[in-house]
Amino acid sequence: MEDLIIIGAGPAGLTAGLYAARARLKTLMLEKLSPGGQVLMTDWVENYPGFPDGISGFELMDKMRRQAEKFGLDIKSTEVSRLDVLKEKQILATDNGNLESKAIILACGATPQRLGIEGESLLTGKGVSYCATCDGPFYREQEVAVIGGGDTAVEEALFLTKFASKIYLVHRRDKLRATKLLQERAWEEEKIEIIWDSIPKTIVGEAGVEGIDLKNVKTGEESHLPVQGVFVFIGYRPNNELVKGVLECDERGFVVTSNNMETSETGIFAAGDITSKLLRQISTAVGDGATAAFAAERYLESLK
Ligand code: NAP
Repeated sequence: MEDLIIIGAGPAGLTAGLYAARARLKTLMLEKLSPGGQVLMTDWVENYPGFPDGISGFELMDKMRRQAEKFGLDIKSTEVSRLDVLKEKQILATDNGNLESKAIILACGATPQRLGIEGESLLTGKGVSYCATCDGPFYREQEVAVIGGGDTAVEEALFLTKFASKIYLVHRRDKLRATKLLQERAWEEEKIEIIWDSIPKTIVGEAGVEGIDLKNVKTGEESHLPVQGVFVFIGYRPNNELVKGVLECDERGFVVTSNNMETSETGIFAAGDITSKLLRQISTAVGDGATAAFAAERYLESLK
């Protein structure tokens, strides 16, 4: 049996893994994809302290993984399909059979929210994308739409100016939610045009995106915007499938934790984007991960 199993190898999980490995806990990290999490989809990170010139999302996560592995963290590529919460022992069903652990840290993160409109599923991968870093280069000298008004939408719209000839930022209100600095950069960028008070109704196309039908939410006016790509950045939903109905979650499904990252079940901790909190950043995920590992260590000591 493991002392600690960490599910998810993003910034929260890798930091928890680093601290747990240094605390010499018998720790296993499980990740269904490559270590790194959503940061791997970020081209350039400018607000993680310690890197005054910024750092690529890939490089930052590679450094975090190597640092945790240097202290002995064992990372296994496997998907957890079920979590059974028992007294003083948790059982995880995985691709490679059942695993047992005294404590768990959930660091499964979150997934980009879908618009849920006509044409979106059909055209995902054929012009509809949730990752500008991955798909931006396909849109050289083409016109694209970015949906959303938060940090992700504005940051990714700015990134897309490297490739696209024009970026329409479609936002449902008349004020952006994004950080002021990002807003200033968007105002200054000639290639970005903001379409205010508008929501997409349909993504049009068959073999590929041909445009989007928009509706102005104030006037009710409908219009068609011819674009070859649609990038959707309207927030995230928690990857809570393993713990839905088991742990206390908020109204949006994010796992509720104490200040010490304890969940509603003893021995299960949560860290990073899956948790209910004000700010989802790499820096906050890292703090959560360190706290969760320390709290898990204390919990394991209490079992002795
Ligand atoms: P977010 O802050 O939740 O913003 C989502 C945006 O999408 C909002 O502007 C929202 O409009 C809009 N929206 C939501 N549902 C919609 C729908 N159904 N149709 C149309 N528009 C919709 O999400 P995010 O930008 O992905 O950011 C998530 C977290 O990561 C935030 O804490 C953010 O600060 C952080 N983040 C930080 C950085 C950075 O620091 N560089 C970069 C990326 C993300 P309303 O404004 O009207 O609600």
